[in-house]
Amino acid sequence: MPDSVNIPKPIFEELLAHARDEAPNEACGILAGRNGSVSHIYRVKNGDPNPEIRYLMDNREQLWVQKNMRHNGLELAVIYHSHPKSEAYPSATDIKLAFYPDAAYLLVSLADPARPVARAFRITNGAVREIGYTLI
Ligand SMILES: [Zn+2]
Repeated sequence: MPDSVNIPKPIFEELLAHARDEAPNEACGILAGRNGSVSHIYRVKNGDPNPEIRYLMDNREQLWVQKNMRHNGLELAVIYHSHPKSEAYPSATDIKLAFYPDAAYLLVSLADPARPVARAFRITNGAVREIGYTLI
């Protein structure tokens, strides 16, 4: 698996729009594609009881997305979520609940609404490592 991820600009724009739509709550979702190149974005409902400070993908929607990905021959590439008020770095909870070591975790910070910041990480057994992403 390549250690960076290619994200088409329109999908990245859609991801930022999702983050803005959900603010002040955290937005979350999935980017899927093939061979590390993203081709699809799936918004997923944030089912956490405290959506302003945490995210938990709604179970039913996540299952539907996984089914749809399989149907389209897509792989999970990126799990994204937003931090409406804090920096684009995984929180302690994000790290504890990162169950997909092969996925990139993309975080978008809206702390400065005029300048959203996005960073991508891999999270493996509690270890956080920043990886690159390229807008294509
Ligand atoms: Zn977070």
